[in-house]
Amino acid sequence: MNSVFDFDPRLLQAAKEAEAAAAEQFAAIDAVSQHASAKVLRAFQLNQVSAACFAGANGYGYDDVGRDKLDRVWADVFHTEDALVRHQFVSGTHALSTALFGVLRTGDKMVSVTGAPYDTLEEVIGIRGKGNGSLADFGISYAQCDLTGDGTPDYDAIPHAVKCARVVYLQRSRGYSLRPALSVADIAQIVKTVRAVNTDAIIMVDNCYGEFVDYDEPTDAGADLIIGSLIKNPGGGIAQTGGYIAGKAWLVEQCAYRLTCVGMGKEVGCSLNQCREMYLGLFMAPEVVANARKTGAFAASLFGMLGYECLPDPSRAAGDIITVLKLREPKAMEAFCAGIQAGSPVDSYVTPEAWDMPGYESKVIMAAGTFTGGASIELSADGPMREPYAVYLQGGLTYGSGKLGVLTAAQFMCNAGLLTL
Ligand SMILES: *Cc1c(COP(=O)(O)O)cnc(C)c1O
Repeated sequence: MNSVFDFDPRLLQAAKEAEAAAAEQFAAIDAVSQHASAKVLRAFQLNQVSAACFAGANGYGYDDVGRDKLDRVWADVFHTEDALVRHQFVSGTHALSTALFGVLRTGDKMVSVTGAPYDTLEEVIGIRGKGNGSLADFGISYAQCDLTGDGTPDYDAIPHAVKCARVVYLQRSRGYSLRPALSVADIAQIVKTVRAVNTDAIIMVDNCYGEFVDYDEPTDAGADLIIGSLIKNPGGGIAQTGGYIAGKAWLVEQCAYRLTCVGMGKEVGCSLNQCREMYLGLFMAPEVVANARKTGAFAASLFGMLGYECLPDPSRAAGDIITVLKLREPKAMEAFCAGIQAGSPVDSYVTPEAWDMPGYESKVIMAAGTFTGGASIELSADGPMREPYAVYLQGGLTYGSGKLGVLTAAQFMCNAGLLTL
């Protein structure tokens, strides 16, 4: 390796030890990936995916075979009645927004039981920004059940909070927060708690970053609707754009009415030339998610050895692909992100800078040298420039390249005098 890259030999020695220390985690990651691969492969076979599914339809998209079959495959993988997998979703936020506007009506109440939702959802809900066109603007109220001091769901407070809720909203991933991601077991516990007092609520899960990190998915734990992005886990680094909504058929239909038009729903919206990438991406996803998780586990092991606090605690069940490294100072965030960028296959020659990103409250620094713009299943590091100056590391299409990216980041910190080996 060092005949190609010029890393400090002490860094390479630390990397060797860090990798050895993570061996058990790697084995556990591979076991989940094998199971997820089985689910995906079986769904392809049972639905008789054929080359005809990859041909793009144009125009209105009536009888778009590739699109319709992909929905069936998706529903089978996630054990749901139906799914809406579309490149017309411009992002995860768009898919989440579509789901919320799709199922909520004036007078309804949405209750988040995992504290503050992901930053970009705040304007959708209407708790930040001008509120014009938000859920609040349409007379949909919002309440939030905060997490306890240790960042876990407040099971004592949830029953009262969700009594009158139409949508009970959960975010599986930690997002830009330091709380642990929810495991599917946690989600099952929340579902049980909600159902004890509210049998009709629609339990909706923001599944972004969560797909294929666990044996089961939130829908196996009783969630009614899950939503995610195709430039994250389930797109496998291949899908060029898009998102998905999966769950109960009548809810998926409401969402499809919102995405296209009432009455037309899922029957329109041509797949263009996106089908092959979406199928191939889903097929690759379990392995790619495993590579991303190994990259994160390696980084946490290395930076943990070097004296940094890292999350998640490897002894906890995984809930997402994010690894948090608390780098303690803005300069360290900048050096780390510059290194991740320099260690990427694309745009390796540019230096990331913190900027005011639309939809986010504080300045955000982002390193992503990706084949797909902004794809965070590819190696990327980002974080809001605020205490405790933590970078959120995710992705890595292959473990070999992900590890090199992390080593480049560590080397950049050394070169800037911010890390001593
Ligand atoms: C990525 C993500 C979203 C949606 O973000 P987009 O950038 O719009 O795709 C929502 N919630 C969580 C937890 C996420 O990680």
